[in-house]
Amino acid sequence: MSSTGIIGGGPAGVMCAIWASQNPENKIFIFDKNIILNTILPTGGGRCNLAYSEFNFKELAKFYPRGEKFLYSVFSRFSTKDTLDFFNKIGVKTYTQDDLRIFPVTDSSKDVKNALLKQLEKKNIKKVFENVVKVRKIENGFELTTDKGVHRVDKLVIATGGKGNGHSLAKSLGHNITELRPALSSLITKEKDFVSLSGVSLKNISAQVFFNNKKLKIPKNILSGDFLFTHSGISGPLIYKISSYCAYVDFSESAPLKIELNLVNLEDTEFDEILLNGLKDNAQKDVLNVISKFIPKNLAAVILERENINPSIKSGQLCKKDREKIVKQLTALTLHAQKTAVGEEIVTSGGVDLKEVDSKTMGSKLVSGLYFCGEILDIDGLTGGFNLQNCWSTGYIAGISLAN
Ligand SMILES: Cc1cc2nc3c(=O)[nH]c(=O)nc-3n(C[C@H](O)[C@H](O)[C@H](O)COP(=O)(O)OP(=O)(O)OC[C@H]3O[C@@H](n4cnc5c(N)ncnc54)[C@H](O)[C@@H]3O)c2cc1C
Repeated sequence: MSSTGIIGGGPAGVMCAIWASQNPENKIFIFDKNIILNTILPTGGGRCNLAYSEFNFKELAKFYPRGEKFLYSVFSRFSTKDTLDFFNKIGVKTYTQDDLRIFPVTDSSKDVKNALLKQLEKKNIKKVFENVVKVRKIENGFELTTDKGVHRVDKLVIATGGKGNGHSLAKSLGHNITELRPALSSLITKEKDFVSLSGVSLKNISAQVFFNNKKLKIPKNILSGDFLFTHSGISGPLIYKISSYCAYVDFSESAPLKIELNLVNLEDTEFDEILLNGLKDNAQKDVLNVISKFIPKNLAAVILERENINPSIKSGQLCKKDREKIVKQLTALTLHAQKTAVGEEIVTSGGVDLKEVDSKTMGSKLVSGLYFCGEILDIDGLTGGFNLQNCWSTGYIAGISLAN
């Protein structure tokens, strides 16, 4: 009989435990300072976006700003189809939304949690509700010091996610931790005239991003998506993606990230023609009403105020110069992001250095008997189910390696 201690009962640690328990000789203990799998409850707004409908593993790996190459080998062994088969087998039926995100048919992360918990019971995996504060390599195993006592295990998995002390535990065992940064976060902007628009959203708009007067090379598919104004800046899937790609760009108040939003998804000349016709056809209407055909009315009002254009002026009387200003605002609305919204990030980028982890086993290359899975690794994906997919896949590989 051998023992495995898994620090962290989030999606990655639990997946690892389920697969490691395939070997009945393996006694498995999950250590968690909180309630097991509680971190899955808020995912997908409570609906749990557990995967993304991309079945080619190389294409799937492209959705990870960090970890793409490492994930080739991981996803070649456990990818979207395996995830869906796994969940189907444990009683979680899934469906795919139009935007390719995959959810349980019940739209409930609680149901995903309960199905996984049932597996832990079925496989007699022991839960230890203790906070691991120290780990030490000892002969043929590891010693874990918790807030309640000391435990000894033969093998150790660190699956503590992106926050918490897991990184320092890994560091104490000799691992390098790449710089940790918030990713998938809202951004705080310099512009304050949009504060009144908090909660106003725009569907599928596009953007360009500049830093230090240079346009950043960001894949085109990243630069479009839904957008939201917040009380302090900007958010929504488009901004999450940008924040993720710019996680290591040192933007600040003095050197902000310049984000140009195209609110109408048209070239300026194209939109100018459309606007001109709109103004001509509605010559007796207020200009605010005509602009509101393209963007939400409250946003149109702020934009006109920004440009000192009277919103009540009749469309037929709008001069060319003012029309050009409107075109510029709607095709390249410029905002300056000064920092990320602290504590609101969905994932942490950075983590256990992938150079020190074997992608075929998730085992440490430095310490025998030590494994990692989930967000603690230097892997992070975009929104869309990719971060949980990382947990299922790396959790499976760590688990299966322990079972063998
Ligand atoms: C609001 C929100 C919504 C999200 N929605 C989605 C989504 O829809 N789809 C998606 O793919 N991703 C989503 N994510 C990201 C996803 O939830 C995470 O990537 C994922 O939970 C990481 O799993 P993990 O098992 O690696 O770590 P975690 O889920 O963070 O779990 C780590 C566990 O370890 C425990 N722990 C930590 N340190 C110790 C210690 N020293 N001793 C004992 N226990 C410890 C913690 O209590 C925790 O239970 C979302 C994240 C957030 C915040």
